[in-house]
Amino acid sequence: MSPKQSTKSKETIKESALEQAISKAVGRTSGARGKDPAAVKAAAGKPARRASAADKKESKAAAKAEEKTARPRQSKNAAKAVPTAAPEQENAAVKAAERQAKKTKSKAKAVQEKLKIIPLGGLGEIGKNLTVYEYGKDIILVDCGMGFPDDEMYGVDVVIPDISYLEENAERIRGLFLTHGHEDHIGAIPYVLRKINPPIYATRLTAGLVKIKLEEHKLLKQAQIQTVEAGMTIKAGCFSVEFIHINHSIADAVSFAIKTPLGTVIHTGDFKIDVTPVSGTMADLARLGQLGNEWVLALLPDSTNVEKPGHSESERKVGARFDELFKDCDKRIIVTTFASNVDRIQQIINYAAKYGRKVGITGRSMENILRVSTELGYMKVPEDVLVSMDRIKSVPKNRTVIITTGSQGEEMSALHRMAFSEHKQVDIDAGDRVIISASAIPGNELTITKVIDELFAKGAEVIYNRADNLHVSGHACQEDLKMMIALTRPKFFIPLHGETRMLHQHAKLARDMGIEPANILVSAIGHIIELTADSVKENGEVPAGRILVDGSGIGEVGSVVLHDRKHLADEGMIVVIMTMSGEDGSMVSAPEIITRGFVYLKEAENLMEEMKRVVVESIVSCENQRITDWSSIKGKVKSNLSGYLYKNTRRSPMILPVIIEV
Ligand SMILES: [Zn+2]
Ligand SMILES: [Zn+2]
Repeated sequence: MSPKQSTKSKETIKESALEQAISKAVGRTSGARGKDPAAVKAAAGKPARRASAADKKESKAAAKAEEKTARPRQSKNAAKAVPTAAPEQENAAVKAAERQAKKTKSKAKAVQEKLKIIPLGGLGEIGKNLTVYEYGKDIILVDCGMGFPDDEMYGVDVVIPDISYLEENAERIRGLFLTHGHEDHIGAIPYVLRKINPPIYATRLTAGLVKIKLEEHKLLKQAQIQTVEAGMTIKAGCFSVEFIHINHSIADAVSFAIKTPLGTVIHTGDFKIDVTPVSGTMADLARLGQLGNEWVLALLPDSTNVEKPGHSESERKVGARFDELFKDCDKRIIVTTFASNVDRIQQIINYAAKYGRKVGITGRSMENILRVSTELGYMKVPEDVLVSMDRIKSVPKNRTVIITTGSQGEEMSALHRMAFSEHKQVDIDAGDRVIISASAIPGNELTITKVIDELFAKGAEVIYNRADNLHVSGHACQEDLKMMIALTRPKFFIPLHGETRMLHQHAKLARDMGIEPANILVSAIGHIIELTADSVKENGEVPAGRILVDGSGIGEVGSVVLHDRKHLADEGMIVVIMTMSGEDGSMVSAPEIITRGFVYLKEAENLMEEMKRVVVESIVSCENQRITDWSSIKGKVKSNLSGYLYKNTRRSPMILPVIIEV
């Protein structure tokens, strides 16, 4: 069915998709398989025999030879990436793909390659999503996200995936495909683009958000970003990637149907099924069902909400709650939400307009998103509703709505500044109703509750209860996840995007749906997942992990630095300065001791004197033992001092002995 048809009668399709899904689900659980994969494989003309060792050698040599003659990467990529536009051309695209498949068939005949899938992030964690798909000499990437540092990562701004495997194979990467514009899917791009520079394919809003990011990092010029509409297919090496419209808490999110020589792999990205979305249409379940009918090799779905029963709720529900809270309110209204939730912001603006209020926007990411999404037509702001923050004081307080960043209590955010009286234009008082329309991302609970406390202390009315329909999740709950499996009926099931327990829960859900346990794989980052038409297994590993970004330094902060920072934060620091003669190694003057974060000096004079005594004794004992090299002396001072301090204070500050040679 072409997307054209699907827009014609949404209602019927919604229904039929649901019916289809249910009947399929019923079919599946009673043990009925879709199509015989072997038959499909034969029909598609795939080489059935296994590769012999000789074959492998041959193809390796051939691949090497090809690599040698390959033109420079960028121009090659540009030439290879042929977007096939719009529904009318779909058939042509399929035919072209078939022709291409025939052409490559003769080459592929030599050996049956395996499809490799390597998650470099997003498994065993929420964040830094990056998945590698590899077949023969072609690689494509799905998403390139960042993670957030945990409490132990002192001073770390951003966490990105380890991409050494991609750097080693940079010339084989045919494209980076983005599912949507959330930070955990695009946030690492500015850092990764400094090492590899594949063409980037994304829908319009996602591309717009990536561009803002790259502009900030002064990398926009060198990036090759191509905008793709849902329904289009992009060819990249031996892969064809179809963009499928899906619902999420940000507009323009897509799932991918990645067509590989072994079959179609569906990578859902973050998704939910919203039958009454605020903007755009319901997820293209019909297309997913169609792909399921044609045979899906593997499904790699979002596992975030697998622990939650039922269906995920519609974004519209939040709008209804705003309506109640805005109606008859005689206070100034301040709302915070995730800046990327364009539909939520649109709803806030709509209800503000409905009740005759002006809207001020504050916080950099909120301003950015408003600019990009109105420019690209994802948000429609009624005329004369927006007012700049500089002029907002000229509007009566009870006629305004302020939309602000800070739903996670972030220290630099506008809401945080308001709460702690550091915001230029907004002072919080009893005339304010503050609405927190978000849930805390795990790990942020403490920071947000601090802000809420402060707002209450200033007299504001704060409405923040999650159970109050102030927020709905953007991720599919159990019933929707089942629906995805029912529609796509994959042979193999590899859950993505979740902490370890979620991945296992998702695996169980798939087993309950009738997927063979042997065909389900819970993997981990860095593991190489190998797929053939009839097997899935892990085979080997590539480097994977967390690269920490601190300021402009990427990867300079490693575990040693972090350990030091933790040590400093927990125990403080003592610097011992010893002035020694360069000629005979004798002590020239009494040692000096400087402490930071250890004890308050004035109250610890005794301790200071004792520490100096320990230092002098250590130096003297070195002299007696004819130990003259500086590093041994430093080592001795350090160990004696830390021994003394632990014995007397039960603390282990970091000790830095410094020798000044005169
Ligand atoms: Zn997301
Ligand atoms: Zn995500």
